[in-house]
Amino acid sequence: MMKAKPVIIQSLDEMRSARRKLKGSVGFVPTMGYLHRGHLSLVQESQKVADDTIVSIYVNPTQFGPNEDLNNYPRDFDHDISLLRDLNVKHVFFPTDEMMYPADFKSWVTVDKLTENLCGRSRQNHFRGVTTIVSKLLNIINPDLMFLGEKDFQQLKVLQQMEKDLNFFCRIIGCPIVREEDGLALSSRNKYLSADERKRAACLRRSLLLARDLYSSGVVETDEITAAMSELIKLSNGRIDYIEIVDPETLEPVEIAQPDSRVILAVYIGKTRLIDNLKIQV
Ligand code: AMP
Repeated sequence: MMKAKPVIIQSLDEMRSARRKLKGSVGFVPTMGYLHRGHLSLVQESQKVADDTIVSIYVNPTQFGPNEDLNNYPRDFDHDISLLRDLNVKHVFFPTDEMMYPADFKSWVTVDKLTENLCGRSRQNHFRGVTTIVSKLLNIINPDLMFLGEKDFQQLKVLQQMEKDLNFFCRIIGCPIVREEDGLALSSRNKYLSADERKRAACLRRSLLLARDLYSSGVVETDEITAAMSELIKLSNGRIDYIEIVDPETLEPVEIAQPDSRVILAVYIGKTRLIDNLKIQV
């Protein structure tokens, strides 16, 4: 049977009234669009447990720095809608900048500590933009559950902290990273890669697996592990923003790796900044 196109909601009142009509549990998947199998896996996880699933598509300007890719960020709304239609999603929230950030906008949400290192160091104000927009979306949509990818591990931890500290009463569920065949994590930004860069980008995943191999063969000093990872990435001409092995809760670097430590990195392949991570022990 032909699936119905989702209702595309572009006003706050319409979103609130659509939400009020949903009587069962509501799962929410926030995205910036240009959807791929990673995003769709979050939708499917939501559909397994929630009665209704709402997806938002919004390229949030406040999480981009002045020299970042806001204007070039890939967009293909019609394709996104057809993918969501195939999954039988009924509601897509697609707000405008004017709705989310009217001219007199003055309020921000910030999370301390967890936002200071890793991506927080190289992307000033990025997490302030993320926590502010997600707070707004949670207030507008009022979901019972929110599904986020582990691909953005720091973002997941920051939003879990925010949810707890500010009593949002929305359960946040972290979902596994969906990858290409060569291990590259799916990302809307992979579109920026040339054919040669696309091949070289597999070095992120290879370096993470090297970390895991070293750890399982008894190397626990994180300096030694990250040095070996750097070597491997440099062979593919990757420019390292950071490679760290951190405690998965505090995101503080550890000197001696533990079974639950997270290896986390951001690497430029050409001009494209890619991120990835993994738990050091399977
Ligand atoms: P974005 O559109 O990049 O803001 O991502 C929206 C959500 O999709 C975030 O929770 C991401 O962590 C998640 N996501 C992005 N890429 C992947 C992936 N490869 N696997 C799983 N989740 C992902």
